[in-house]
Amino acid sequence: MEQVLVVGAGFMGAGIAQVCAQAGYQVSLMDIEPAATARALKEIRWSVEKLAAKGVIQESPQQVLARISTEKDLASAAQADWVIEAALEDEQLKRDIFQELDRIARSETPLATNTSSIPITRLAASTTRPERVLGLHFFGPVPLMRLVEVVKGEKTSPPVFERGVAFAQSLGKTPLRVQRDIPGFVMNRIFSAAFREAVELVEQGIATPEDIDAGMRLGYGWNVGPFEIADLAGLDTVARVGQSLRALGDKHLVPSSNLIERMLAEGRLGRKVGKGFYRYSPEGKRI
Ligand code: NAD
Repeated sequence: MEQVLVVGAGFMGAGIAQVCAQAGYQVSLMDIEPAATARALKEIRWSVEKLAAKGVIQESPQQVLARISTEKDLASAAQADWVIEAALEDEQLKRDIFQELDRIARSETPLATNTSSIPITRLAASTTRPERVLGLHFFGPVPLMRLVEVVKGEKTSPPVFERGVAFAQSLGKTPLRVQRDIPGFVMNRIFSAAFREAVELVEQGIATPEDIDAGMRLGYGWNVGPFEIADLAGLDTVARVGQSLRALGDKHLVPSSNLIERMLAEGRLGRKVGKGFYRYSPEGKRI
């Protein structure tokens, strides 16, 4: 059975670990915070039980969960056939992780990142195997969203890029090939442009978040509006992605107002804490 190491057990890491386990991979889920891996296991159990009850997965929840172990460090990278990094969106932190992974993982193991905005080439530069570093950019909630952007860094080798495509397909996902490495890749550049304008319209008092979300659903057929997406992703992550895009020279994709920072200062981090643009019940239902 192929082994996958997922680094970071937050919203995305938990989801990535789950879909890998559902697809039959043996998964190690690592986080520096023991509370994060404990929470991730709880969320994965809840999600897998729901999917089993609906008949979406054929195995029992126990069979899927038995393929996931949790780790406090990166030692299991030595056994991994795939590594997917999904820690906080912070370039220095990710570079440090990639440096350590490069030291521990077998030389043939591909190292993937789920970064939302940081060019793959910059992370690959802290390894001795840039030809084996690529982006596998999942969308949240990972068990439900069928897209994965597969991103080619400047030095990613064509066979490793194609292995990334095949790996995404093995998880039941549809790959979007990003052929050249730019900040935010394809989907986050498009979303960020829409979200920037949506935030500016709210700040100028032209429309409310509720009305803009409804507008995008009813007028353009989006399943969820931009403020609903931001609440789900976590406004702390949205802010980190904005800081990263700005630092990489793409400030036109980031709102010029500090609305998100003001919300963070008030503890409005999004759905995970029960309040963001909207309020949520402890079960995560919109109030
Ligand atoms: P999160 O805050 O929910 O989780 C991040 C986790 O990383 C935390 O549990 C934290 O303890 C852990 N961490 C921090 N330092 C670490 C280290 N040195 N080693 C291991 N773990 C460490 O964030 P998230 O929303 O899961 O985002 C994770 C990554 O995925 C980011 O790069 C983000 O940009 C990207 N991403 C997020 C979304 C989204 O919708 N939230 C979508 C696509 C991609």
